[in-house]
Amino acid sequence: MLRVLTQEAFHGAPCVLLGIDMDGFKSVNDLRGHDVGDRVLMEVGGRLRMHLRPGDAVARLGGDEFAVLMWATEDEAEAAALRLLDALGAPYEQDGGVVFLSASIGMAAAETAGDVETLMRNADLALRYAKLRGKSRVERYRPAYDRTLRRRITLEHELRGAIERDELRVVFQPVVALPSARPVGAETLLRWTHPELGPVGPDEFIPAAEESELITKLGRWVLDQACRRLAEWLRDGYDVWVSVNVSPRELHAPDYVGHVAEALRTHRVPPQRLVLEVTEHAVATDLDELCRRLRALRDTGVRIALDDFGAGYSSLGQLRDLPVDILKIDRKLVVASEPLVDVVVRLGHRLGLEVLAEGISAPAHLAVVEASGCRFGQGFLFGGGVPAEHLEARLRAASPEHRVPAAAGHGRSAISAGQIAPAVDGEDASG
Ligand code: C2E
Ligand code: CA
Ligand code: CA
Repeated sequence: MLRVLTQEAFHGAPCVLLGIDMDGFKSVNDLRGHDVGDRVLMEVGGRLRMHLRPGDAVARLGGDEFAVLMWATEDEAEAAALRLLDALGAPYEQDGGVVFLSASIGMAAAETAGDVETLMRNADLALRYAKLRGKSRVERYRPAYDRTLRRRITLEHELRGAIERDELRVVFQPVVALPSARPVGAETLLRWTHPELGPVGPDEFIPAAEESELITKLGRWVLDQACRRLAEWLRDGYDVWVSVNVSPRELHAPDYVGHVAEALRTHRVPPQRLVLEVTEHAVATDLDELCRRLRALRDTGVRIALDDFGAGYSSLGQLRDLPVDILKIDRKLVVASEPLVDVVVRLGHRLGLEVLAEGISAPAHLAVVEASGCRFGQGFLFGGGVPAEHLEARLRAASPEHRVPAAAGHGRSAISAGQIAPAVDGEDASG
């Protein structure tokens, strides 16, 4: 490929270089072993070759990275790249179970570069950009990517010392019971303010942390903060639960269950008061493995919420098999489409799950959610993320009977309005 690039790419017919990388391939090796990983890679190579057009060239750059050189215009190449995406995204039948993978593709036309090195770099930048924008997609190189990626690299670097430099905070966004609108829980959300960069949103820095092992460290810190506050609130007699977001990468770390158990023990938090939010994205990779991890977590007594449900990753069919307790309806659904909210709420209730609607930011959203019979809500209409002290003030204001002595939050305590019912002994939610 290098030879063709050097000798022909910059004289004559238009050509486009595609950089291809399999999303989350590392977890195939980690979870299924290197033999399966090797066989999947061979299959990837085979599928690439099968979809080449005469004259095109394919190469493996290393690991799970491939490149394809296409003699085509950018538009033609993009259409071909989308077909490749489909081909590479089809299930990989392996001994011991099917592997599901997606690919990300970055493309750069020779005319965006003056030499082979720059062309390869541009294709790689576009590829990294495709990963950044959610993977399983094709991106064309644009000069602006250089800036975005430079920022990403800065963030990753600066985030490393953020805990030690005391730049991180957690805030708590109230979850309310409907229709009373009384706060019954809170979601822990991470905040980062860097001395020079200023506030950086989690939508920007969490993905940066997820690409490295850093997310594990951040996640443990957040879990600890959340449990500490939760323990205080329960000691003070509030009937409340707290949720924490868990990244797929944390979930698949071998010692994650141990960390959760340890945090519960350290802070003496009754497990059913802690909810772990697992995003729908995690479902896309390996359902069986995910179920095993979730069951192990649930065995500690914590409850699991499926976050961002309806954002388009997992199917309704998979929902039946997932050991989860709570369904969080994605705000896109809440904001856009009333009939779907209704369907999801009914489905959730039929499966024995509690259902919570996210992103309620206007009375109109609330009306739709309430009409569907949904019992829990969250969103700017009820308040965004606030420091622990502010959430506590909310809890206090909502509980005139507060300070009735309560057994550190076991079972029913002072304020029981609308508490999400603990799941039955870690049974499947599908009963
Ligand atoms: P998420 O888990 O879906 O969290 C809800 C996000 O929606 C939060 O954004 C919240 O501020 C925002 N939100 C809440 N109500 C409304 C509303 O009514 N309208 C609108 N437009 N937005 C609303 P935030 O805090 O920026 O967090 C973004 C994402 O970052 C979270 O999405 C979550 O996936 C991730 N994240 C935040 N903290 C953590 C953390 O500690 N660990 C991990 N792994 N991920 C985190
Ligand atoms: Ca969440
Ligand atoms: Ca969410």
